[in-house]
Amino acid sequence: EHHISQRVRAITPSATVAMDTKTKALIQQGKPVINMSVGEPDFQPPEAASLAGIKAIVTGLTKYTAVAGMMELRKAIARKLQVENGLAYTPEQIIVSSGAKQSLYNIFLTICEPGDEVILPAPYWVSYPEQIRLAGAVPVIIPTDESSGFKVTPEQLRQAITSKTRAFLLNSPSNPTGAVYNEEELRAIGQVLRDHDLYIVTDEIYEKLVYGVAHVSLPAVCPDLMERTLVVNGFSKAFAMTGYRLGYVAGPREIIQAMTSLQSHSSHSPSTITQVAGIAALDAFNPAVVAEFRRRRDALIAGLREIPGIACTVPEGAFYAFPNVARLFGKAYEGVVIDSAAKFSELLLEHELVATVPGESFGAPNNVRLSYATAYEDVVAAVERIQRFVRALR
Ligand code: PLP
Repeated sequence: EHHISQRVRAITPSATVAMDTKTKALIQQGKPVINMSVGEPDFQPPEAASLAGIKAIVTGLTKYTAVAGMMELRKAIARKLQVENGLAYTPEQIIVSSGAKQSLYNIFLTICEPGDEVILPAPYWVSYPEQIRLAGAVPVIIPTDESSGFKVTPEQLRQAITSKTRAFLLNSPSNPTGAVYNEEELRAIGQVLRDHDLYIVTDEIYEKLVYGVAHVSLPAVCPDLMERTLVVNGFSKAFAMTGYRLGYVAGPREIIQAMTSLQSHSSHSPSTITQVAGIAALDAFNPAVVAEFRRRRDALIAGLREIPGIACTVPEGAFYAFPNVARLFGKAYEGVVIDSAAKFSELLLEHELVATVPGESFGAPNNVRLSYATAYEDVVAAVERIQRFVRALR
């Protein structure tokens, strides 16, 4: 019996990981699983980034960098934020980390006291509540569903704010719902936030993956809130650089300095090779991936919507469909009753070999997440399998 700290024992084991383990086991057995559970693009990073990384290795650009990241990278990110998002930051207001995941964790550790509340909408990305709790703070969840397009209303936000609120966390485009807040909605939310002393954390990692709508950054429409906003972004989704591990935060200089101090005692910085590749990637975004994701999304959503008992909103961003399967609860597959999204996902994987992630871990027990970061043909085949699965329910 080993000793595991209370801190770590309190972490909820990820349903994503559980599904992944089962999926990999089936693939290992040679089963033709269509894996729609992954949150990672299926294309390659920009060639310029790969070549820059190789060059960094062979030319000896392999020493420690500054903790907050190479100046050249932070300058390039500042330029990107100005040009693409309309946000003016100096390189001193930017810190890069080993993935946006670490960026977010650094933020919560830096701004939260024990007992502070961090407000976030559900459905949420699985790591947010755990990171908030690891920082000693309390996640305060605002539920949303299809009726509001999975978006929080200003009224909901107003009611959730207390004297203990330290921060409000927004993720647009959203994982898992694909919801994208438009300018007007951000303005209305900003209006509520303006009246309260709290931080705003905006996770914009899916910003480039939007279909027929514009991504807008909250501080760009509410510039007066910029001094208490932390903008989070990364290279995993737009540039398919998941394994490089590169993310960043832009924000008030004092907070970035504090985060730098924290990071100086943990990871120091992301890999130097990764940072060099990141500089090259910023100029090499491939817009063709957006058109391809859109094509897959359209096929997936149209197919899902034809299935009796499944309802699905049209996601405007990211690469996930988030259908509601609650009307199928109570039905049975070969005598086994579907009583939850988890059971739906489990039986769908077992009998039709389509891997999805049940919504429970996103705070959405009526929904299932399907990633369309997989080949178009697989998307079409998955829809057929799900149709057959639902048809077999009694
Ligand atoms: N934020 C959201 C909403 C995500 O979906 C992810 C990855 O799945 C991340 C942050 C973290 O990405 P990374 O740590 O790879 O930069």
